[in-house]
This record gives sequence, structure tokens and C-alpha cells, in this order.
Amino acid sequence: MSVQREWFEKDYYAILGVPASATQKDITTAYRQLARRLHPDANPDDDAAEERFKAVSAAYDVIGDPERRKEYDQVRSLGPMSGAGGPGGGYGGSGVRFNASDVGDLLGNLFGRGEDSGYSPGGPFSRGPQRGADLEADLHLAFLDSIQGVTTSVNLVSEVSCPDCSGSGAAPGTTPRVCPDCRGRGVLDDNQGFFSFSRPCTNCGGRGVFIDSPCPTCTGTGVTTRPRMVKVRIPAGVRDGQPIRLKGKGAPGRNNGPSGDLYVRVHVEAHPLFGRDGEHLTVTVPITFAEAALGADIKVPTIEGDAVTIRIPPGTPSGRTLRVRSRGVTGNDGSRGDLLVTVEIKVPTDLSDSEREAIEALQAATAGSPREGLGV
Ligand SMILES: [Zn+2]
Ligand SMILES: [Zn+2]
Repeated sequence: MSVQREWFEKDYYAILGVPASATQKDITTAYRQLARRLHPDANPDDDAAEERFKAVSAAYDVIGDPERRKEYDQVRSLGPMSGAGGPGGGYGGSGVRFNASDVGDLLGNLFGRGEDSGYSPGGPFSRGPQRGADLEADLHLAFLDSIQGVTTSVNLVSEVSCPDCSGSGAAPGTTPRVCPDCRGRGVLDDNQGFFSFSRPCTNCGGRGVFIDSPCPTCTGTGVTTRPRMVKVRIPAGVRDGQPIRLKGKGAPGRNNGPSGDLYVRVHVEAHPLFGRDGEHLTVTVPITFAEAALGADIKVPTIEGDAVTIRIPPGTPSGRTLRVRSRGVTGNDGSRGDLLVTVEIKVPTDLSDSEREAIEALQAATAGSPREGLGV
């Protein structure tokens, strides 16, 4: 989902001068008229017109597209952003790095609020259940584990609702005071004719409430952090960069809301022998000139650790790739890719006397030059 911060702040319907109930056709008509009138070509050196042209285009980008419009309407129906839910901290452990996702927090706050309108005058503390934030963690995996699958764990530090104040931020025995300016909403509306903006309430800093005696445990934020270890089952065949979603393993919800999700991004370490090409494994194997010229049966390693024998046909050039069926990566459907063996002719550098004699004899017996036809 491509929810953006501006969606909370901008009324795209007002910018295009149409009601929220307008049809797609009405929206397009309104956009075309405005775009024609405000187009920079028609208004050279008019900065105000250019700004409005940009605003109109941005609005049409969203509500001109029925799918995005639906998302936008949903976002707007949930009300202004809350100030709750900060990012988590970093924590080093088992080679795992962790960053809380900013967008995850945003979505976590947003979609955790489905049970109320978001405009209730009681402010953040009259809310229904809130979904916890989505979190991200990085996991570094050995190549073999990525191919075979593994159960491991990630360590992370994530926020939890402060146990001492139950997340209110107010010292035990006290309650937060609702901001009179914004009546707890945290935002004020500015209507400037054609445009309508919401801006954070300056009186309360967007929190909607004042806390006269902050909770000492969380210094009034209502949130504290704690290290956690989360078990992760990595499926066989996971790819480098692939995100694994662990439902409900993100930050805990507030007021009995559901937890967010944890997205584990997998980083696969390189293997000294094997590489990966989609569902196939790759390996490069040295062969001698004699094996390439005369043909040979050679042993090649597999990811399982056993060796398989493959036939090098006579006259095989360096760089040719041969295929061992079904010794690659096992896919989700149980099918298995191949092992792609690339042969590379190894040129000897330290010749014994008898090797030198043999190669000189070969050269003497070789008719013509391989560079004939190059015109040199
Ligand atoms: Zn607290
Ligand atoms: Zn306020």
C-alpha cells in the first residue's frame, strides 16, 4: 500500500473543488479544467499558479485513480495521525541488525484505529483497540541454510506499552488533561478558501493532551522499549533480500489491540563454491585440456555434500555449462531446479619436464593456427 503522510494533511477533494461523493468522471473533468487554467505554459513566471498546478496534479494522482482513491478515503476516514508509537532502537546480537520501520509505525497507528472515528473529543486516551506497529529486522543466513531452510531467531528491541502508567504517560495516580485548543484531536483545521489544511496543534504539540506529572518510567511518552527474541522459521529456498512476514510478531497493540507484524529481511551470505540462478544452483569446475579434448567422466560436488559424476563430451570448450538435473533449489511446490556445472580449462603453470615434452610434442603435431581467419 502506498499510503503517504500527506494523505493525513491534504484534502484532495477540496484541492480539486469537488465533493467527496464526486464520480471519477467529475474528478477528471475538474482536474482537466484546473490543469489547463494553471498550467505553467499558460502562466509563465507565476509561482503561485505553479504551486497550485502541482497541488492539483498531486491530488489527481491519488483520487483520479479509483484504487488509490479508495485507500485515501479509508485513510481519511480514520482521522488524524496520533503522536503515539515512536521507533524502536537498534540492538546488536547474533549478527542481526534491527530498525523499526517508520512507515510501519505509520500504518500501525493508522490501521489500529478502525474502531473509532478518530475525532472523538476525548483524544488519544478514549481510543478503542490500537494495532501495534509493524517492525523490520534483518537476518543474515548462511548459504546452505537459505537452500535447505532453517529455524533460527532474531533479536530486536521493540516498544511496549509502559507497564507503570498503562501507556497514558501520566504518573500513576494522575490523568492527562485534554488540550482545550484542539479538544484532544492534536490537529487544527485551517480553511483558506479553495484549500483546506490540517496542521499540528501548537498548544499541545500535536499530542492532544497535557501531562502535568509525567510517568517516571517512560518520561511521559507512554512507551518503553525492551529486548525481545523472536523465533523465525525460514522456508527452504529463500532468496537474498526476500522479506518474511511474521504475523503478530511486531510491536504489541494498545488497549487490547492486535500486535503488528514483523518483517524479517533475509540476507544470504555467499558460498565459496556454489552460486544461485533462480531455482538453479551454479558451480564452476576446473578440467584439464586433455579432459576437454578427449572427453572424461568427472566428479562434481553438490550442495548435499556428495559428489555426482558427469560426462564431459570430447571437444568441450572452456566455459560450457552442463546440467545435473534436480540437484538445485527446492521450490515452494516441491519441484527442484538443476545444478549448472560450468567447466573451465585449467592451464598448467608449473610444468614438469615430461609435461613440457608432451605439450611440445602436441604443438609440433598441431596443424595450422587457431587464429587463421582473423587476418593477422
Ligand atoms: Zn509510563
Ligand atoms: Zn492541542
